[in-house]
Amino acid sequence: MPAFDSPLFVGRPWLPDREPLLALIGDVLDSGQISNGGPRVAELERRVAALHEVRHCVATCNGTLALELMLRAAQLTGEVVIPSFTFIATAHAVSRAGLTPVFADVNPLTHNLDPEAVERAVTPRTSAILGVHLWGRPCDIVGLSAVAERHGLQLLFDAAHGFGCSYRGRMLGGHGRAEAFSFHATKFFHTIEGGAVMTDDDDLAESVRRQRNFGFAGSLDSVMVGGNAKLNEICAAVGLSQLDGLDELAAINRRRHALYRHELQGISGLHVVDYPNEERSNYHFVPLEVDAEATGVGRDDLLAHLLGENVIARPYFSPPCHRASVYRDLRTGGLEATEQLASRTLALPTGPAVSLQDVRTVCELIRSAVSRARSTRRVHHGSSRQIESTNGRIPTARARREPRRDVPLVEHFEDR
Ligand SMILES: *Cc1c(COP(=O)(O)O)cnc(C)c1O
Repeated sequence: MPAFDSPLFVGRPWLPDREPLLALIGDVLDSGQISNGGPRVAELERRVAALHEVRHCVATCNGTLALELMLRAAQLTGEVVIPSFTFIATAHAVSRAGLTPVFADVNPLTHNLDPEAVERAVTPRTSAILGVHLWGRPCDIVGLSAVAERHGLQLLFDAAHGFGCSYRGRMLGGHGRAEAFSFHATKFFHTIEGGAVMTDDDDLAESVRRQRNFGFAGSLDSVMVGGNAKLNEICAAVGLSQLDGLDELAAINRRRHALYRHELQGISGLHVVDYPNEERSNYHFVPLEVDAEATGVGRDDLLAHLLGENVIARPYFSPPCHRASVYRDLRTGGLEATEQLASRTLALPTGPAVSLQDVRTVCELIRSAVSRARSTRRVHHGSSRQIESTNGRIPTARARREPRRDVPLVEHFEDR
């Protein structure tokens, strides 16, 4: 029997308050305008722009097209420096915009682009840096801006994870020339499928608006090559129905993240990546780094073990982009930190569908897997057999439920 009867997911879509949502969808259907720039999309764009303190939010039908249209609007050429430790859509958007991605390494502590690695990746063909605010933790924007300025490059961001997050007190969306967001069902804020480009740049915003609607500029005359990347009214209504609950959602996520950190602290070789204290964060991810050497358990074996218990953790972001078949032949700088993080990072289930008791149980599974691997290794050390005979693998014996450690009950871990 797995520890959980039904699976625990990473990024399970949140759909609160069904009644108001259904009412809103009813209004959309009654109005007869279900797409093509209706009032719900306009309202969503207005409210999301206000939330992120930017002049423009241009909503699109998904985040990948938001990225692609943003890159096209920036009129780049040649190469764009991006991280490899990101979701593959970052690289695809660059390629589909007719540009060549060049992968630079990340900082092993922040998981975000390392400005020095970016600088080493710059060539005369480079036209831009596309940073990714991985896990919603902001890039080193000051460091990247300095590199961009020194080399005359544009600075853009993939802010797919960054909804509701800040950098040095200013919300993401207004940094660099523009930032692209994803409103996919698995993200912190979603419209089922959707995305947006946010920017303070009027020209760039106008270009994205035209590109998403066949190159039209207020009439049926196309002034540029465009496609169809419009968000529809029903999806906009799904987004509108969630906006008021996002502070609560972030608080729910934060409690789960804090409990994971609390329960796994002090186990050498395990590290739950933290969010910066001084910023606003959405706490949407619980990234766990597993050091196989120190724990005796490899990330992939721990993952297999958790999957067997119905804990659907995800090996984000593995393989990293430069290991994908389609990008294997591209030039890269050294990617040591990327390789290491891609082999040891795991996103753990969180969000409102995961209770605090669920979090405790997941942590118990992780702790017992580590302690069994360690004791197996000790036995082999002791009997001077092959030292690494477990090879980082979890012994196959059934998961033994260990009695719960005595953990002080902290008030903010109360369930809810
Ligand atoms: C989800 C995601 C995207 C793509 O967004 P979609 O809305 O799924 O197209 C791009 N970049 C990153 C880092 C993502 O996580």
